[in-house]
Amino acid sequence: MGETIATNRIQVVRATAWRDAVLKILEPRSPYRPWRVPAGTRRGDAVLAVLDTNPVSVIADIREVGVDGSAMRALGGVLDSELPWREPPELLELATLRDLTGFSLPDAGDPATVLGRTVLTAAIGQRQEAPSGVEYRNGHTSLAAARILLDSLGSCTSCGGKLDLAEPDARDRLHIRTVDLAPSERRVPVADDPPEEPQRLSRQGYGPDDIRIGVWRPGRFPMDWSAVLCDTCRGGMHHGGFDSFLRFRFSLHPPCPSCAAQWTMRTYAGFAAVLRSEPWMFHTGCCPGSIWVCAACGHKWGPRSGSEAG
Ligand SMILES: [Zn+2]
Ligand SMILES: [Zn+2]
Repeated sequence: MGETIATNRIQVVRATAWRDAVLKILEPRSPYRPWRVPAGTRRGDAVLAVLDTNPVSVIADIREVGVDGSAMRALGGVLDSELPWREPPELLELATLRDLTGFSLPDAGDPATVLGRTVLTAAIGQRQEAPSGVEYRNGHTSLAAARILLDSLGSCTSCGGKLDLAEPDARDRLHIRTVDLAPSERRVPVADDPPEEPQRLSRQGYGPDDIRIGVWRPGRFPMDWSAVLCDTCRGGMHHGGFDSFLRFRFSLHPPCPSCAAQWTMRTYAGFAAVLRSEPWMFHTGCCPGSIWVCAACGHKWGPRSGSEAG
C-alpha cells in the first residue's frame, strides 16, 4: 500500500456500445469488449468511463489504475462484487460534468488523456453524496435505459431471477423497459381515500400513532415502472396483454380476498440498508407480518413473510 502515487492524468475510456459496457460492468466475465482505452495508461492515473448514451454520460466514479497498469481492472472496481450488497454507481450527463468542472473532454471519437483530476474528482464526489440517479430513470432515452440496466444489478425486475450476463447473447436476452414519467406527473391512488377520521377518536388519549390504527390510506402508484425483464417475464407480459409493467407485476400476486382489488403487495421485514422502492413490495418494519397486504384496502392475509422476499 502507499506505493501508488496519484497523477493528475485522467484516462478517458470510451464505450462504443453502452449496453455491452453496462453488461461488462455487471458481469466481468462477459465476452464483450466495449471499451476503448487510451494507450500509455499508467499506474496512478484516474479512469473516467464515458458511455455513448444519448445524451452522452459518464460513470460518476473515479477509479485509479493500480500497479498492474490496467484501466480495465480499475474500471471493474466501480461495482465490487465481493461486497454483501452492491450499489450501482451514478451516471452523469457529460454536458453537466463539463459545466461543473469547466473543462471539456475531447469530442466523440478517440480515447484520450486529459489533465485536471482534482477538479473532476471534486465534482463527481459531490454528485455521489446527493443520490440523484433516480431522475435519469425517466424518459425513453438510452441514458435512462443504461441507468435502469445498471440499477438492475443483473436481475430481472419482475421475477428477481439472475440474468445470464456471461453469455455471448446476453444483450439480446434482456429487455429494458423505459417509462415516460414526467416529474410533474402525480401518483394516482389505487382506491378512493377513506373519509377523514371522526374528531372523537383523537380524544381517546392513546397518542397520535394509535389514532391512525384501522385507517388505511390507499397506495399511490405511478402508471408504470421501469424494468429489465428476462425472456420469460417479457413473454408473460406480452401474452397477458399488459401495456404497463406495473400492472403486470401486480397481476402476479393474488387479488385481495376482501375487496378483490388487484393491488396486492408482498411484505418484507427486517433491517434493510436501502428500502425497496418497488410499489409491489411493502416493508413492515422489524417484524414480519402477513405475506400479503392489499394496497387498496389494507387487508392483510397469508402466512408470515420471511425477512427476504422477491
Ligand atoms: Zn423474469
Ligand atoms: Zn383489498
